[in-house]
Amino acid sequence: MSDLSRIDIKFLSGVGPKRAEMLAKQLDIHSFRDLLYYFPFRYIDRSSIYKIANLQGDMPYIQLKGRFLGFTAHGEGARRRLHALFNDGSGTIEVVWFNRVKYIQENYHTGVEYILFGKPTMFNGRYNLTHPEIDVYKPETEIKGLQGVYYITETLRNRSFTSRNIRQLVENLLSSVKLIDETLPDEIIRANHLMPLDAALRNIHRPESVQALNKAQERLKFDELFFLQLNILRYTKQRNSSLQGFTFNVVGEPFMNFYNNHMPFPLTGAQKRVIKEIRNSMRTGRQMNRLLQGDVGSGKTLVAFLTILIAVGNGYQGCIMAPTEILATQHFATINAMAEKIGVTVALLTGSTRKKERERIHASLQDGSLNILIGTHAVIEDNVLFRNLGLVVIDEQHRFGVAQRAKLWKKNAVPPHVLVMTATPIPRTLAMTIYGDLDVSVIDEFPPGRKPVQTLLRYDNHRNSVNRFIGQQLQQGRQVYIVYPLIHESEKLDLRNLEEGYQQVCETFPDRKVCFVHGEMKPSEKDYQMQLFVTHQADIMVATTVIEVGVNVPNASVMVIENSERFGLSQLHQLRGRVGRGADQAYCILMSNPKISADTRKRLELMTETSDGFVIAEADMKFRGPGDMEGTQQSGIAFDLKIANLARDGQMVQLARDVATAVIDDDPDLSKPKNRLLADGLNSLFSRTINWSLIS
Ligand code: ADP
Ligand code: MG
Repeated sequence: MSDLSRIDIKFLSGVGPKRAEMLAKQLDIHSFRDLLYYFPFRYIDRSSIYKIANLQGDMPYIQLKGRFLGFTAHGEGARRRLHALFNDGSGTIEVVWFNRVKYIQENYHTGVEYILFGKPTMFNGRYNLTHPEIDVYKPETEIKGLQGVYYITETLRNRSFTSRNIRQLVENLLSSVKLIDETLPDEIIRANHLMPLDAALRNIHRPESVQALNKAQERLKFDELFFLQLNILRYTKQRNSSLQGFTFNVVGEPFMNFYNNHMPFPLTGAQKRVIKEIRNSMRTGRQMNRLLQGDVGSGKTLVAFLTILIAVGNGYQGCIMAPTEILATQHFATINAMAEKIGVTVALLTGSTRKKERERIHASLQDGSLNILIGTHAVIEDNVLFRNLGLVVIDEQHRFGVAQRAKLWKKNAVPPHVLVMTATPIPRTLAMTIYGDLDVSVIDEFPPGRKPVQTLLRYDNHRNSVNRFIGQQLQQGRQVYIVYPLIHESEKLDLRNLEEGYQQVCETFPDRKVCFVHGEMKPSEKDYQMQLFVTHQADIMVATTVIEVGVNVPNASVMVIENSERFGLSQLHQLRGRVGRGADQAYCILMSNPKISADTRKRLELMTETSDGFVIAEADMKFRGPGDMEGTQQSGIAFDLKIANLARDGQMVQLARDVATAVIDDDPDLSKPKNRLLADGLNSLFSRTINWSLIS
């Protein structure tokens, strides 16, 4: 059979140029293959016919067989609708249409026996049926078994092009194609008990049975995930074998000096383990690409610092890249204070660094007198040249685009080791798919003495008691964050929301000093306001999510999040991590509009029940879908999975990963004859997409 992706859909019987244009525009269906992979989003059981008299409770989609008793049109213009009574001998049901009135009146008639298909809904104590599918009843063509329902756009529906039309086109296609080409070698199909592709594609559209449908779904999910993994692993292998890295032979003097004489506290077991993992991969001679996951407050900064000291001890420079100026500044303060003790030099470079200072930094980077550079995006500007950059630490990785990271690599002939730190725990299935090639280290232990932040969900009508509570904490000398959501930092409306909030806070706590930070401020003003809070000249900080990352004020004990229903779970978790950094009990108060959906309430309640970042990340992915997860948009890889779901199909991801690993281990460039199908499959699937895994 020829390549179905090369056959224009307009050549399918029942399509033609006009419909082809419509299918392309509305459903992104251009070729035979596109239609074949346009799967039903659900199935309906057409094996039985209901009696109207037997309808009860919440009904699923069902079919009825009977006759229309008459049609009546009501209303005018846009409000025009059509009512009909439909009788099947056992009873009568009302059928309603809100559009296509004329079409229905012209095409359907009383006295003809029809099969109606739809979901009866209760209205005023009686069932009715809105916009059912209608077929003339013919005993010989009675439809049996499961039938697919296809997603259709509103525009198509208005042009009387429905799920049924798609079904018809799929029928035409399936009967015109004798055998759909297999994409997997026999060996893999047999070893994993997969359904052959031809059968899977036929069954996904018109299942022979529920079992067959399950097998078909399984096979198609496997295909999707397997090729994705194969693609990632293929490039990983190539990169691992081609990319040289610096060999850091020794731990070095700065590390030992600091470790023996200046440690502010003993490392946790997890910090020690992670440092060992990093140390080991930096001496292999291959470039390290490591993701360091650690919940907020788990002590990643110290790990980063010690890691950089290893680079310095081997004669290289290190660089820390942070997503915001505030965070970069704070890292600089923390790290500079530690580095000073052992004579290691550190500089801060951000967008607001003065020209003179900038020039000094550039010079000291190039002559090698500067050991560590900390900064924002400014550090990847083209004119920032290092003498010998050995290690780059990227904090809060999800804020950086892949392209930006790639830019860092170009700073040397040999790429520096890369340590990406994130407090967003990325569910395993997702990590495997986005960062297929990154090694992962996890800090799964908090420094001793931390009490989990107590999290409370409060509605706007509890504001008085919340304010009383805040007052008590302030009375005890503690500090408080109050955070407002910003959807887009530039939206004027959001800013007004924040400013009003600020006014209210000032009025509620008239004898307290309140500072105010948002993303649109000039960096110098922002710094000034932050500094007020850090030095405890201010008791309350009213802010947007600019404080989400990085601010470290151990004396702050309360985090109030306004309109928490507008935040994602992972974001709430990040914000919550801003408190509870000292040894005392800290609180996070999620304020919410009382009018929220049951789902939203469940989400917020989950926050009050767990402080486990991984549980929260998994839940976030389930609620929002992986496409919305931070990190996925920028990863650029094929996330338009048609049938597999990274949140729900974890086991299948693992299986696909294992099978792909075995294939690549055996035949890294897929040149063996038995893998020809796989090589072809990859080429046709991924030839047009950029290979992000090469630079992630
Ligand atoms: P994050 O992982 O969120 O970046 P930080 O590195 O900011 O966390 O560390 C959070 C706090 O814990 C800081 O105040 C830091 O000084 C402290 N800390 C880090 N490691 C330890 C440790 N081993 N023992 C005690 N406190 C620690
Ligand atoms: Mg941090």
